[in-house]
Order: sequence, then structure tokens, then C-alpha cells
Amino acid sequence: MKLKIAHLYPDLLNLYGDIGNITTLKKRCEWRGIETQVDSVCGSEKISFTDYDLVFLGGGSDREQLLVRDKLIAKKKDISAYVENGGVLVAVCGGYQLLGSYYKLEKETIQGLEILNIQTEVGKTRLISDVVLENDRFGTIVGFENHGGRTYINEHTPLGKVLYGNGNNGTDGFEGVLYKNVIATYLHGSLLPKNPVLSDHIIKMMLEQRGLPTDLAPLDDTIEMNAHKYIVDRFAGKKE
Ligand code: GLN
Repeated sequence: MKLKIAHLYPDLLNLYGDIGNITTLKKRCEWRGIETQVDSVCGSEKISFTDYDLVFLGGGSDREQLLVRDKLIAKKKDISAYVENGGVLVAVCGGYQLLGSYYKLEKETIQGLEILNIQTEVGKTRLISDVVLENDRFGTIVGFENHGGRTYINEHTPLGKVLYGNGNNGTDGFEGVLYKNVIATYLHGSLLPKNPVLSDHIIKMMLEQRGLPTDLAPLDDTIEMNAHKYIVDRFAGKKE
């Protein structure tokens, strides 16, 4: 058995070590004897989404988002079908914004994939901070944000409540979106190394989609949880 990961446009969407998310998933699978294959998809390369167990979209600058827009829009129908059929997709920051209707910049608007009913507009300042979130199921989630865009998620379920940081737009107190098997978030860091609970949840979703047993052997997460706890203790509940 092999789990297959498609990393979309790692040449353009790759801020703040987003590749670390893929490494984390790969390692946590391999430590449990689950083989993985990671395929990077660049340029106008075609892929068959149904062959994959996870699609990953990282973050990028506004310029890189503009460069990647047409390549993504060309795959819009296939990515939407993948998500609507329960495909697992993780999107970070620029990748998160591109799942929505649009990202409105000062001079132009970047059209999104319209998978999520979310809209993003650039603000006057950048929202830069360590972040601590709380989610009923995953507990605390830690990361780092750096975005000019403010995202409004309408009726969507957020990934978490902001305990520290700005989150989706700096005003409503929520961060990210959970939709079907999509996890979309502003959190870099990269996100997954310091959030092993969330990482294993993603692996379980991948296994479940394949119809495979989802019980995962426990790993020694002492180092990961020390790093996680350090951020929670340092920031949660404090004022910025
Ligand atoms: N360019 C987007 C913004 O500034 C996304 C940035 C990112 O991916 N970190 O809002």
C-alpha cells in the first residue's frame, strides 16, 4: 500500500518552509510502515487527481499567486470534483486564498477556484504574528502567519478560534476553514511538524478515503509536543 501526495506548484507556492508539511506527513507514514510517493506538479503538467490521496497547495507572494492563477484555473473542474468526492486537500495561506472566489488586490483581482465560498481582500497592513488556535477536536494548533489578505469565510466552519494572532481577517476571531476533507489555513511554520495531532488526522483522512483501516500506531512525539507547548505557553491568552 502506498499513499500518493500531489504537491501543486512547489516552485511558486513555497513560503516559510511549507515543504515541511509534506516531509512531516511522509515521515509519520513511513515510521508506521506506510509507503508514500510525493509528486511535484509544475508548469502546465497534467495530473489525474483521482490517483492521489492528498493534494497540497502552499503559500506564495501576490506575484507568485498571479503567476500560478491560470495554471490552477485550468485544473478548476478536476480539483473541484476531487474535493467534492471527499479528496483530502491541505492549503496554506496563498493556497488557501486561491480556493475561494477571489483575492482582491489594490490594482487587480486574482480569480480563485471557487471551491470555498470565501472572499479575500488585501488590507493596508500585513498581519504578521505567531498564532495559537483552539479546535474542539484537535486541541491547540500553533503556527505563524504573514498575510496582507483578509479572508471572510461566510457560513464555513473555521479551523479554529484564535487564542493569539490575527487569523482570517484580524476581526472575527477565527482562523482557516474546514470543508469536507479540506483543511485550509493561514498557518505556516511550517504547520504540521509542531502539530502532530493534526498531521495524524490528515493521514487518517487519506487512509479512510482509500477504505483502509485508520488506526495509527502511536509515535514518540516528545520533541514535537515540546515545541508545540512552548508556543502555547508563550502566547496563548496574551495580548499582541
Ligand atoms: N500573498 C498573500 C498575502 O499576502 C499570501 C501570503 C502567504 O502565502 N504567506 O495575503
